[in-house]
Amino acid sequence: MFEDLKELCDGIGGRPTGSAAASRAIEWAAGKFRAMGLNPVLEPFEIPNLWLPVAAEAAAIAPQQFPIRLAAAPFTVSTKGPLEAVMLDAGEGSEADFARLGERARGAIALIHRQEMKTFDDLFAEYVRNQPLVAAAQKAGVAALLLESTRPRGLLYRHPMSFDGSPVPIPMAIVSREHAERLARLAQHGEVRVRLNLENRLGGAYESQNVFAEIRGREKPDEVVLIGAHLDSWDLGTGAEDNGVNVALVLDIARGFQELGLAPRRTVRFALFTGEEQGMWGSRRYVERHRAELDKFAATITFDTGSGRLIGFYLNGREDLRKPTNEALAAAAGFRATEHLIDAIDGTDNFDFLLSGVPNLVGIQDPIPYLPDYHAESDTFDRVNQREEKATLAAASALLWTFAESPERLNRQTRAEVEKLILDTKLDQQMKAFGQWEDFQSGRRGLFP
Ligand SMILES: [Zn+2]
Repeated sequence: MFEDLKELCDGIGGRPTGSAAASRAIEWAAGKFRAMGLNPVLEPFEIPNLWLPVAAEAAAIAPQQFPIRLAAAPFTVSTKGPLEAVMLDAGEGSEADFARLGERARGAIALIHRQEMKTFDDLFAEYVRNQPLVAAAQKAGVAALLLESTRPRGLLYRHPMSFDGSPVPIPMAIVSREHAERLARLAQHGEVRVRLNLENRLGGAYESQNVFAEIRGREKPDEVVLIGAHLDSWDLGTGAEDNGVNVALVLDIARGFQELGLAPRRTVRFALFTGEEQGMWGSRRYVERHRAELDKFAATITFDTGSGRLIGFYLNGREDLRKPTNEALAAAAGFRATEHLIDAIDGTDNFDFLLSGVPNLVGIQDPIPYLPDYHAESDTFDRVNQREEKATLAAASALLWTFAESPERLNRQTRAEVEKLILDTKLDQQMKAFGQWEDFQSGRRGLFP
């Protein structure tokens, strides 16, 4: 598992969907399945908007001169050459903050402050602020936005500014926390001027591929249990915790099943999705394409929070999954991965299965080491907790085997049941904030109304 992870992280590196590295990762994953004696299937799908970083440079030019560490925010536009402008402190970036700056904001570079990120709730709050911030900045007519990094000691990370990869019309970058604070202090005493050059490659629709392999069920080959992780990652680091380590886990479970000659009652499908970071496009397109087969899906299992201790599973609103999940995990009881939560998760590749009524579980893992290095330069192989990941592999294998072997099958929900689940778990609020609500209401995503 960790030799595979090393190859993926160190040998291929960060692999944003649409990049050459992502193509290499897709080929690499297919080769891994082939080496196990499985027949990989590369399934193409379309993503509406390409975004890749090209260059990001900035410097303070007055009253002091120093280079500014920064990283472009995904899905935001370029500056169209170097931009030199006054930098104004726009506080938290609320409409009131911009109103306070008045006409001075027009054409200026605005600096936005952020609290340090310490929990998943903080991270979630950072995302929810995106849309109102962009709206307020557009209204004020600023030329560009600099967002203070939420992680100290110079750490930079990719902070996507839209949930589906659609382009955001203001050039934006995450700025080192220490540089942001220094710039803000200088701005208290007079005019600060900054030179900023952000060059990103934006494009229209393009094709990526998901990678699948399967072991056909010996009795019910048309029924499927899917285990998945996303193969793509952001590029500053090497995508170890997010999500290379769980790609390696999926591969190693497949290898284990093959080496033991296991063929359970149902088909087990190993899924490595791409386009996750662009808005979960790989799994979304997969669910669209296989809509007619979803009645035959017994369950999906997704891992996307690194290598911290596996605490249990998100039941994604379905209390009826608790008992069968615990029964399956009894085979790996020593790892005590049974502190399940009823919460419904919107933010990784289970989501379109959830909307379609397919029983879906997402691993709950200790936020360390995942969270501090999330999308950051520091998401590298050495961060991975190998001991815990081995325990997760044992629990995941037991779960996959039991769901695929059990005489009974978990049932698919109806549209009405999914609607109730969404309201009960308050998932509707998040879907509205993420711009997914309309698509569910209209039936473009999930079960037909
Ligand atoms: Zn991820």
